[in-house]
Amino acid sequence: MSYEHLTVDLIPGYLASKPELSSLIDWQKIKNIEEVGDGNLNLVFIIQDELGSGVVLKQALPYVRLVGPDWPMTPDRARFEYETTIAHSRWVGDLVPKMYLFDRDRFIMGMEDLSDHLVWRGALNQGLRHEGVAEDLGRYVASVAFGTSIFGMVAEEEQAALARAVNPELCRITEDLVFSEPYANVGRNSVLMANEKDAAELANNTAMITEIGELKWSFMTHAEALIHGDLHTGSVMVRNSNGASLHSTKVIDSEFSFYGPVGFDLGALWANYVIAAARAFALGNEEQANWALSLFGKTWETFESTFRQRWPERIDPSTFSDGVLERTLHQWGIDAAGFAAAKMARRIVGLAKTSDIETLDESVREGAARGVLRVAQHFAVHRHSGHAPSLLSGHAGEILAATVTG
Ligand code: ADP
Ligand code: MG
Repeated sequence: MSYEHLTVDLIPGYLASKPELSSLIDWQKIKNIEEVGDGNLNLVFIIQDELGSGVVLKQALPYVRLVGPDWPMTPDRARFEYETTIAHSRWVGDLVPKMYLFDRDRFIMGMEDLSDHLVWRGALNQGLRHEGVAEDLGRYVASVAFGTSIFGMVAEEEQAALARAVNPELCRITEDLVFSEPYANVGRNSVLMANEKDAAELANNTAMITEIGELKWSFMTHAEALIHGDLHTGSVMVRNSNGASLHSTKVIDSEFSFYGPVGFDLGALWANYVIAAARAFALGNEEQANWALSLFGKTWETFESTFRQRWPERIDPSTFSDGVLERTLHQWGIDAAGFAAAKMARRIVGLAKTSDIETLDESVREGAARGVLRVAQHFAVHRHSGHAPSLLSGHAGEILAATVTG
């Protein structure tokens, strides 16, 4: 597949050719163009004019940027991100960037400039505490879970949306990297030498492997709602909350979206809260660690209350009785703990790690990595006998405190 890739030099002409963008920014008075794609996959340019208006252009390349042309990947992922962001904006318009344009020939999205926000992972790594973000994300997952599912949509429309969102190439990446490779190394795993025995313990934990197999099956078959599919703290941008009007949370980068299990997005958040806590413990910042672990409950409680609020609007209340609501929420809690486990383990042993852990000095990284792996195994196996967020975060705190500092 051949199409022109964006460069700084091409951008003013590109803006001029697109009325959706040239009405937002003065392409003749560009002050600054910055390529900020710190991501693994795509090109991202932030463009600002002299009057202070900005837009972001994100272009999907026909391969994985982290690896290069040797790992081809469909640029159609840009369409998934564009369409899902728009579908989600119907329900949580305040929590996603505005989408201005999708260029089907060159796989370019034009979107809202969020350069007054920080990537949440980076903020967490600095020890910053943005209040209200975990709650916003609970509302995001719940609103999407209700609004894009059979609970909130007429069946035929929901099935059409599901068909449009079938995303096999990106799902395959998740299937391999999250569910398979940590337990069956194909040569892309890596850990510190000091953690080799921990990675082996994980790969030989048969109870864990059974759970992960069941979770992979769920991931591949439970088409519950149009989930984000990659909802880690690097897919969230935040703006400070000192004044209520400045507070803002934006979920970006939904290219992995598809109709999948709701617990997958919740689990991704929980996993990244544990990883943030492991970093804080490793740095001796127990207060920050406990704060990171408190996010479990904040996300879940807002998720649950938002979903319960929406429930009276469901399409088919006689079939989907209140008993269904209780069972569904119960199952999502168990699922979330399992998916959190899968997500934690892959971030420690598999390809694509997190800066939270990787930027730690080796002397403390070892313990942090071990702690996260142990929490993962605990969550996967014990989730059936208790998945309350306070219970999980309490256990995570105990395990991390013992492993990271011990
Ligand atoms: P990838 O799909 O390649 O991982 P992301 O969507 O995560 O790309 O974007 C990569 C980085 O670009 C983000 O971490 C963030 O720093 C920056 N970024 C992405 N979208 C925006 C935006 N709308 N406004 C400002 N910065 C953005
Ligand atoms: Mg991405």
